[in-house]
Amino acid sequence: MSLAFGTDLNGKVAVVTGAGGVLCGMFAKTLAKSGAKVAVLDLNEEAAESVAKEIVAEGGVAKAYKANVLDKTNLEEVHAKVLVDLGPCDLLLNGAGGNNPRATTTKEYFEMGDIEADTISFFDLDQAGVEFVFNLNFIGTLLPSQVFAKDMIGREGCNIINVSSMNAYTPLTKIPAYSGAKAAISNFTQWLAVHFSKVGIRVNAIAPGFFVTKQNEKLLFNEDGSPTARSQKILNATPMGRYGEAEELNGALLFLANNDAAGFVTGVVIPVDGGFSAYSGV
Ligand code: NAD
Repeated sequence: MSLAFGTDLNGKVAVVTGAGGVLCGMFAKTLAKSGAKVAVLDLNEEAAESVAKEIVAEGGVAKAYKANVLDKTNLEEVHAKVLVDLGPCDLLLNGAGGNNPRATTTKEYFEMGDIEADTISFFDLDQAGVEFVFNLNFIGTLLPSQVFAKDMIGREGCNIINVSSMNAYTPLTKIPAYSGAKAAISNFTQWLAVHFSKVGIRVNAIAPGFFVTKQNEKLLFNEDGSPTARSQKILNATPMGRYGEAEELNGALLFLANNDAAGFVTGVVIPVDGGFSAYSGV
């Protein structure tokens, strides 16, 4: 992976949550390639280890930690380890997040007869499922910020980067909890940016549009390579008419992480979406 431009993070410590995953694994590698020592945090220890190993194999500095973004005591234990292993956190990337089938309706629109039908309608959404999704995305961003941003107080050039989504602007059909939770992330990004503005901690977010990853490939494309029905809707709603490549998120990350370039930028959510969030559909 070659980086679009340079951001010198030598001497910095970056903590990335959800870093065993597709996008945040890439973010962790990008930060390491820019010189940061990276704490690779994930609930899935094996996935975290694998990303850390890759970074080290490429000459970077990284260490994996099993961490649950919903457990403050666990995060504090991990924080203590990171302090000893790598040092205080300069950059926190809150990446852990996602949706869950228990908080997803089967159909886009409610129609007569759906209450009796063998589908999950709005009325069947499971409270625990909805809470799970809200907590994972929102509380899972708030708690690591509480734990790791303490390192940033009184030190220069520190910042937090959250991960929002297209559904924060306008909800996507079927996924009300994930949409609401990501809207909360964008809102919280602004709130925390204001709250920390007097102590020099910048807080921003990246809102990825639609990216093909190994995980969603099968949902987006039929076996013959043609787009599925939902995939075609996404492409129709993306003025650039294509999916993003995960590496295309790196420019926003490197910009926000760069104190020379983005030193006066706080409280923004940068869409990287081929125009999806700008397009009304007409
Ligand atoms: P992913 O599923 O590959 O990665 C998420 C990672 O979070 C996984 O490794 C998982 O083990 C970890 N995780 C889950 N629960 C956790 C917990 N309680 N504590 C710590 N780690 C936990 O997902 P991704 O596609 O790489 O998404 C990363 C972020 O980007 C998420 O916040 C997601 O909502 C957001 N996002 C993704 C897309 C996309 O197109 N993939 C679009 C918009 C936003």
